[in-house]
Amino acid sequence: MSTAVESSKPPTAADTLTINEIFYSIQGESTFAGQPCIFVRLTGCDLRCTYCDTEYAFYEGKRRTLGEIIAEVEKHPCRLVEVTGGEPLLQKRVHTLMSRLCDAGYTVLIETSGAHDIGPVDSRVHRIMDLKCPSSGECARNRIENLPLLGVRDEVKFVIGTEEDYAWAKAQVLAGVPGWTDRVNAILFSPVFGKMTPLELATRVMADALPRVRMQIQMHKLIWEPNQRGV
Ligand code: SF4
Repeated sequence: MSTAVESSKPPTAADTLTINEIFYSIQGESTFAGQPCIFVRLTGCDLRCTYCDTEYAFYEGKRRTLGEIIAEVEKHPCRLVEVTGGEPLLQKRVHTLMSRLCDAGYTVLIETSGAHDIGPVDSRVHRIMDLKCPSSGECARNRIENLPLLGVRDEVKFVIGTEEDYAWAKAQVLAGVPGWTDRVNAILFSPVFGKMTPLELATRVMADALPRVRMQIQMHKLIWEPNQRGV
């Protein structure tokens, strides 16, 4: 049992995460698109994608205890939580946060760049993992060792800004590391906002009808202003 003296101690680094923002919105992407969702955005990313729309999360943030984070999540009425960034897997304590949210009965998603080991993620969490296309400038950071780890809860996202990107994504789906395309819950093709129109991508997706591939657009950017934060 904690004593009064112990409980008055300041939190240690092991109890905290650096959080950019926590907000309640509509999930704009993945097979969960359209559902109310609470977002926990962690600070920091070691990639610099050309199209990044969350550069403010690279450095801005405050250290918050896991208890504070969960208490803020619990203020909102839904049971779906996405842990995102930045790159959430850079902070190792994120695994404890996700497990505690699962224990509390939440459906938990993590959105990750795919540049880090997804193996330690709690098996109850739905992993939404990018495979970075050439125009991101970060294609070389794709961690190919993650592909055999993908399972039935997981979704792989290609963010497509150019014809070269589309051809690259198509090649990964048709001839990438065998097995992962059949195992995952979904393969998402998403246009880079402002670079490729939804119609351009839709035309390609319809022409090829690749197995398991579904197109998505960032629904939250249609509901609110595209650059609005906290939605
Ligand atoms: S991985 Fe995500 S947060 Fe990091 S630079 Fe790329 S788009 Fe931005």
